[in-house]
Amino acid sequence: MIVMKFGGSSVADAERIRHVALIVKEFLPRKPVLVLSAMGDTTDHLLEAADEALGGKVSIERIEGLHLAAIGALGLGEDVARTEILPLLEELKSLLIGISLIRELTGRTKDYLVSFGERLSVRVAAAYFRSIGVKSKALDAWDAGLRSDSNYTSAEVLDESYASIAAVIGPLVESGILPVVTGFIAKTADGHITTLGRGGSDLTATVIGAAAGAEEVQVWKDVDGILTADPRLVKDARPVSTVTYEEASELAYFGAQVLHPRSMQPCKRTSTPVRVKNSYNPAAPGTRIVSSLEAGALPVRAITSKKNVTLVDIVSSRMLGQHGFLARVFASFEERRLSVDMVATSEVSISLTLDAAHDLVALKRELEKIASVDIRKGKAIVTLIGDVSRSSEILETTFGVCARSGVQVQMVSQGASKVNISFIVDDDQAGEVVKALHAAFFA
Ligand code: ASP
Ligand code: MG
Repeated sequence: MIVMKFGGSSVADAERIRHVALIVKEFLPRKPVLVLSAMGDTTDHLLEAADEALGGKVSIERIEGLHLAAIGALGLGEDVARTEILPLLEELKSLLIGISLIRELTGRTKDYLVSFGERLSVRVAAAYFRSIGVKSKALDAWDAGLRSDSNYTSAEVLDESYASIAAVIGPLVESGILPVVTGFIAKTADGHITTLGRGGSDLTATVIGAAAGAEEVQVWKDVDGILTADPRLVKDARPVSTVTYEEASELAYFGAQVLHPRSMQPCKRTSTPVRVKNSYNPAAPGTRIVSSLEAGALPVRAITSKKNVTLVDIVSSRMLGQHGFLARVFASFEERRLSVDMVATSEVSISLTLDAAHDLVALKRELEKIASVDIRKGKAIVTLIGDVSRSSEILETTFGVCARSGVQVQMVSQGASKVNISFIVDDDQAGEVVKALHAAFFA
């Protein structure tokens, strides 16, 4: 058994759904379970409809139009619309009327509202599979066994889900049925609909894969897998053949928006391989995500950068041998709800980075009570994701590249994550540094 997950753009309209079906048919011998996102930008459109409802206007035209057009273009006929789609659209409309009357949108209502996207898309897709002779059943996540806590808009999957999913999905697949399951959504024990956070369908797929003992979870995208660098920056960026779960989650945080950051956890627990595949190029092997790499792997998997970062240097001789100094410094950040990205410390100083968007005047005044503070804008973080047990080798190459290009490294941090080495350079040098490093590590 395998799990195949397709995101919103892969099921954006009738043509894309046909294309997905062609790919899935190839994999039928491996007994797939499908996990789908909402069609196209439906999730955003639902959120926009909620905003309109808050302003007193109720309209489901765009969502209704998209789904009914797809049903028409897929040749699915009246009764699919009548029995599967129209009741959901009715319910959605009633909900929007409710929102327009009470003029309030709680997290719980929001999750109930966006759930219609995935609930509609799986019904359209499953009906299409049946129409081309593939036995198929649409399943809402809760009917597939997914339970979550009640942290609306960003719920956690509960452990009890694993046994229930195995009990539902296993027998379905064994009886030759293609289950088409909603990504992104779940239900609490007391029956309220939740969502797992934007982009959460990846997580649904890995939870189902881990729970049902899949031999592989395939996440289908529109790129050839995880790339060694941003292709807009580095022309010869190329797909990475294999990365570890840790490297993949770290990459998700660092801008390579290939996978939902939390989605690696379930498969890591069960060592279920995850593969990122390209729906525009199904023959390409994609990137495989596994527990450990084969011998002979390069030390670095990928290089990313984040521009427009502010570097804060806090220096105080009072820090020497003291306790509580770091706590005081970080309390100032906490009070102002500032999120810190990188940190490096010495006996008498702390360097850290923040997004440039923040106004730091008040923070500076506060910190200057205990230390001298230097704030420098216009910096970039360059991050190497790879095998930190080979850090000396990685740093040697990195510093060599920087020295030869006359680039001054202004801070270095080798995280506890064992896969991430980051350093700070001037913003306008970041592009060149990434290119030069890419040439050095991947040539
Ligand atoms: N449809 C949801 C979103 O757009 C979930 C997903 O696509 O994974 O965020
Ligand atoms: Mg989406």
